[in-house]
Amino acid sequence: MARYRDSVCRICRREGLKLFLKADRCYTDKCSIDRRAYPPGQHGQGRKKVTEYGTQLREKQKVRRMYGLLEKQFRGYFKAAERKKGVTGENLLVLLETRLDNIVYRLGFASSRNEARQMVNHGHFLVNGKKVDVTSYLLKPGNVIEVREKSRKQEKINSSLDAVVRRGVPEWLELERDNFKGTVKALPTRDDITMPIQENLIVELYSK
Ligand code: SF4
Repeated sequence: MARYRDSVCRICRREGLKLFLKADRCYTDKCSIDRRAYPPGQHGQGRKKVTEYGTQLREKQKVRRMYGLLEKQFRGYFKAAERKKGVTGENLLVLLETRLDNIVYRLGFASSRNEARQMVNHGHFLVNGKKVDVTSYLLKPGNVIEVREKSRKQEKINSSLDAVVRRGVPEWLELERDNFKGTVKALPTRDDITMPIQENLIVELYSK
């Protein structure tokens, strides 16, 4: 499948926001956006005027890239969010948050969503006792995610778990650090999603 192969820090600089795509580096003074807080490229410092469409597009791109999705996948989530009862923008964020790769990241088994995706693909996790290696697998309240026994000694997983203290685990999840286990206590509410996202702009964009 097509994947973004350029420097991921350029994505943050393009969106003007730390998207935490690079694990530990994001928390150090090596973070590119701290050093060069303007869009990448020759005209990065010259672009000023943004149209309404441009603002909506940037918001969509920001969220899509935050979760590491391709356009087609992201639009698929939007359509699914529209079909659900409730507010489409909030439904969209809940769907994105409950993806297995995101929850692996949120629980601290991986230090970025990219890393989580790779680890899920490599089959390091069980959901309710069964191996699941599908990154887009949607979790529900009551689901239990575990690191497989043979993967528990992995340095990457242990250092990520140590580092999750810095980020914190969201209220709607519960981590049992010593058991390499996490539980989805409830679906996230809008208030649980604290990243600066204006989902209404994405709804406006796709409703044109
Ligand atoms: Fe983004 Fe992390 Fe790179 Fe900073 S270090 S620009 S937060 S990916």
